[in-house]
This record gives sequence, structure tokens and C-alpha cells, in this order.
Amino acid sequence: MFYGFHNSIAGRRGYAAALDAAEAQGASAAQLFAKSPRSWKTRELRAGEAEAFRDALTLGPVRRTAIHASYLVNLGASGELWEKSVFSLADDLYKAALLGVDYVVVHPGSGDPARVREGALKALSLAPAGPRLLLENVAGGGNKVGARLDELANLIEGTPLGVCFDTCHAFAAGYPLHEDARGVIGELEAVLGLENVPLIHLNDSRGGFASGVDHHANLGEGAIGAALAAVVSDERLQDKTFIMETPKEYDSQNLRAFRSWAGLL
Ligand SMILES: [Zn+2]
Ligand SMILES: [Zn+2]
Repeated sequence: MFYGFHNSIAGRRGYAAALDAAEAQGASAAQLFAKSPRSWKTRELRAGEAEAFRDALTLGPVRRTAIHASYLVNLGASGELWEKSVFSLADDLYKAALLGVDYVVVHPGSGDPARVREGALKALSLAPAGPRLLLENVAGGGNKVGARLDELANLIEGTPLGVCFDTCHAFAAGYPLHEDARGVIGELEAVLGLENVPLIHLNDSRGGFASGVDHHANLGEGAIGAALAAVVSDERLQDKTFIMETPKEYDSQNLRAFRSWAGLL
């Protein structure tokens, strides 16, 4: 089991700063943005930056890493927005390949599921091989793609794509993690196959059950509450990577909760 947080890449060490932060936290995994998540602008790799990152991966305690794609990406769109989305995602996949990052996570977007699949595969075809591209389940609302596990299963079928399972989003989309976490994981296994779900975003939810509200809470303090412990301790998920996208100032509190649920304290 690998675990950690979404970390910042601000500062002199750039991308490696996310690994420095993980090491300071005592974590074994980290997620980062490869560029500003609310801008189309890319971020160039600085001289020596990829080497520094890969050295830190080789020598340090962090064993699993993920890049979260830009929030502007909408693979379900058409026309110019779809093309910009594909190139932005391909750029993240390219960075991930150079850095030795394991996973790139993207929200499918809204609109046409067939376009989402086509866009994800197109981005993969434009980038060097290496990282696995994961579609994240979302909280739902509007014509957002990917709130239902069966829809995600259709999207990835017959492709190298996988899924990132976000507990807050699943709960908000109507999966009863607060009452039957083991049942929801069973559904994940039956519908997607757990080999296709290497990454879990472990977040509690400020929004209520089936509310469609995507608002993360500290572990154990939201509407899922202590029931979230059953996800961390589930024997079927012991080889997975858990990333917490919880309020940053509470990292040490959330890490304590995670470790106690995982039996690591
Ligand atoms: Zn996300
Ligand atoms: Zn997430």
C-alpha cells in the first residue's frame, strides 16, 4: 500500500518539490499538477528538472506518483476545445513519461462519452509510452461523463485506460460508502476489475449522500465519516495507491487518520 497527498511544485526544485514534501510528510506516494490546473499554458521542464525528479524517486521513500490533469480539459467537447484538451492531456502524459510518473488522472468532462474515449486514446497516441492514463469518477451533475462505474467501464473496455476512484465523488454520485463501503468496493471489482483501478483518491465529503456536490472534507469529518476506514483496511485494496486531496493545512491530521485505519500506527 502506498499513500500520500496532492503536493505543490512551487519553488526552486520544481517538480521534485512534490517529492520533497512527500518525504517530509513521511508519505510513500504523491500527486502533483504538471502545470497550472486552471490555465491552458504549459510549463516547460527546466534544465536538470526531470533528472532531479527521477533521482528523488530512485533514492527517496516515494514509490508511486501521479499527475492530475488540468481542470479545463474536457474530452467530451467538440471542435477547438476538444483539440486543446487532447493536447493539454498529451503534454501531461509526455511530462509523466520523462519524469517516471506512474499515472496521469483526468476528469472525463461533459458531453459525448464516445468523444471522451477517442480523446483519451488520441492523447495517449501523441505521448511516449510509460504512464497509465486513468479516468476519474466524478460527482455528477449536468451532462458530466463518468459519475457511474458502468459508464467508466464502457469507456475503458478494450483500451489500456484505467480508472481513478475518488471516494468523495462516488459518495456524492450515490454510491453508499457511508453504509456499505465493502459493497461499493465489490461493485468496483465486479464492474471495472480492480486491476483497472490502481489509484484511489481518499477524500471525505462535505456534501451529502447522492448530492452531486464535489466538496472534499478531512478524513472522518465529512458525511462518509468513520465508514471511510473500511476502504483503507479492505484486503482487496492493499496493493493500491491512496492519494488524499484534503485541505492542505490538515495533512498531518489526515495522515494520522489514514495510518490508524490502515493499521500502520
Ligand atoms: Zn480529480
Ligand atoms: Zn479526486
